[in-house]
Amino acid sequence: MAYKETFWMACDSTEQLRAEYGPFHTRAEAEAEARKLNFGYLLRYEHLIGDNEDIQEVRCIFIELPDATPAAQGMRIVRKLHTRCATCGESAVHDEPWQAEVWADIHEFEHTRHRVRLFEQTRKEGLKEIGDWRDTCA
Ligand SMILES: [Zn+2]
Repeated sequence: MAYKETFWMACDSTEQLRAEYGPFHTRAEAEAEARKLNFGYLLRYEHLIGDNEDIQEVRCIFIELPDATPAAQGMRIVRKLHTRCATCGESAVHDEPWQAEVWADIHEFEHTRHRVRLFEQTRKEGLKEIGDWRDTCA
């Protein structure tokens, strides 16, 4: 007996070069993740599994999230800036570079000889350190 296996992905567009995140077992999980990432679409994959556990057919269906904003749909890069003190380990997350700078200034002012590092988080690459970020503005 053939059976159908379904799973869900969150994705940012219906194009071929889209970013996808998942898989999730339920639509609710995928939807929650899509909203968190500001993705405008869900992708429902259906695998038809044959008698020998082989995939006979793959179907995918895009579902547009009803109340996704046009901005969210067009936005391909979700970026967060993470600051972390290399000395004491205190950390924070920022949307704007100037916020990271202010946080680092205050932290290094309050704690002598502490050194704050800056990381950029993107969906594709994860956390990536930005070196010499403060020296260039000094
Ligand atoms: Zn510190």
